[in-house]
Amino acid sequence: MNSAVSERTVIPILWDHLSHNTPSLLHASKSKDIILMVEPKKNSEKVNHHKKKLIFLISSMRHFAKELQENGWTVKYIKMRSPENSGSLRSEILQACKSNNISNILLTEPGNWQLRETLKSLQKGYDYNVKLLENNNFFSTHSTFSEWTSNRKELRLEYFYRMMRVKTGILIKKNKPTGGRWNYDKENRGTLSGSEKFKPPLQFKPDDITQEVIDDVNIEFAGNFGSDRNFWFGVTRSEAEVAFDYFLKHNLATFGKFQDAMDCDSSFLSHAVISMYLNAGLLNPITVCKKVEALYISGEVPLNSAEGFIRQILGWREFIRGIYWMSMPGYENQNFFNFSRSLPKFFWTGDTELQCLKSTIQQTNEEAYAHHIQRLMITGNFSLLAGITPEEVHQWYLAVYADAHEWVELPNTIGMSQYADGGKLASKPYISGGAYINKMSNYCGNCRFNVKKRNGPDACPFNYLYWNFLDKHQTRLNSNPRLRLPYSSLSKFDKEDLSKVRSDSKKFLEGLV
Ligand SMILES: Cc1cc2nc3c(=O)[nH]c(=O)nc-3n(C[C@H](O)[C@H](O)[C@H](O)COP(=O)(O)OP(=O)(O)OC[C@H]3O[C@@H](n4cnc5c(N)ncnc54)[C@H](O)[C@@H]3O)c2cc1C
Ligand code: SF4
Repeated sequence: MNSAVSERTVIPILWDHLSHNTPSLLHASKSKDIILMVEPKKNSEKVNHHKKKLIFLISSMRHFAKELQENGWTVKYIKMRSPENSGSLRSEILQACKSNNISNILLTEPGNWQLRETLKSLQKGYDYNVKLLENNNFFSTHSTFSEWTSNRKELRLEYFYRMMRVKTGILIKKNKPTGGRWNYDKENRGTLSGSEKFKPPLQFKPDDITQEVIDDVNIEFAGNFGSDRNFWFGVTRSEAEVAFDYFLKHNLATFGKFQDAMDCDSSFLSHAVISMYLNAGLLNPITVCKKVEALYISGEVPLNSAEGFIRQILGWREFIRGIYWMSMPGYENQNFFNFSRSLPKFFWTGDTELQCLKSTIQQTNEEAYAHHIQRLMITGNFSLLAGITPEEVHQWYLAVYADAHEWVELPNTIGMSQYADGGKLASKPYISGGAYINKMSNYCGNCRFNVKKRNGPDACPFNYLYWNFLDKHQTRLNSNPRLRLPYSSLSKFDKEDLSKVRSDSKKFLEGLV
């Protein structure tokens, strides 16, 4: 390094690293280094982020910056509406280095492959000393995942999850799974009787900082998707922790049983609604899982709830992250079925007669939240059955949920939901007709379509689209052992049945705009 250049370091903190324990901060010097935080601007964002997602992440950034300053850090904070905000993180980093005569840049790895490459390129093209440290808001590291994948033909969550249970010792007794089984998934498919009462997640009143962010977002991102009404998310670590403890007290015990249920009158049911906190760095997954394990050990929650919850975080969240980093670049363009249909406009408006979609999309618009089965079996299922281009489906999911960051959204969409990777992540496409939706929800009672009918103008579109999908993609899918049953049923369709399925589907899909 040039002797005139200072030994100081610029530490960019991104909106998914809002933790005092993020590695870049752990390696920084409070007395010398400069923290840089830059808000996005309208023209810097390709994604049509939900307003509540922006409010949550930006208010959390402002609160975190305040905490850092109160703790004695030097923070250069650039707000979205500041005239000096160029709209480019890369330019702001270069500017901060230039104006302080600094050539060292240290940051926690972004959760987006393209951004990571852009930041790494500062090393080559500009002669900066760029150091990226792996994000520690996970149980596993990149090398844990690559060691696990080596020599494996198939990557399946179940085996990764077992390895992680053993490695962490969570819900493990004498090297065996607590309770004798690894997985209580079968006990997690309870349906609602209508009499259950769920406590909605703990809500917080916006403080002055959040109120200012709401105003800024409404100016800078005025045309973006989503409602900004009744913003209630926590925006600090302490609020996120209180919200999680509230979930533990009120909803964890029933989490397992009703994990897959859907209800048009309850957006959250027993779900934790903490993914946005975990992914922003406001909650730590290890602390979260340890608290759940402790409640099982003390007898306060049943094993199916504790195991079901821990599997989501220790299993799915870690597995999904591993798949993202091993599959990029290129994963975003996967299109196994060669779909080319555009995303229907109603995904942005909720203006559709299909009640399950209408309800899920309206809820998404209102809350920037839908739980897993709504994402997988309503909007995801429909997109797959209708043959929507996976890239457009991906852009939608990345935009509309407060927890969406590319490392977690992309594999869930491309791999789990759209089977666009041809089965790298999921062992079969997650598709269903209306019967499953009717069993797991109360949507169908309010729908103009008849869930029991397979054909005709009032038949549930999920029904004919389901058989049409299986029929159309038979050569690609009929050797999949997990689809043996539906293909055996399809083989019993007579010519007339099949022709009705095909013509109803054609008509419906032609009308989709
Ligand atoms: C198409 C599609 C897109 C998705 N996009 C995202 C996304 O952008 N960000 C995101 O965090 N999750 C995503 N998920 C996974 C899952 O739907 C959400 O994590 C969950 O709904 C968040 O709500 P919750 O906190 O109430 O979760 P709970 O149901 O209470 O589960 C607890 C926690 O487990 C973790 N978890 C559960 N399932 C998954 C999963 N499949 N992948 C990763 N973590 C998981 C989350 O951190 C979650 O907070 C997506 C799923 C699908 C099918
Ligand atoms: S009848 Fe079909 S379209 Fe209507 S809510 Fe039920 S599953 Fe959805």
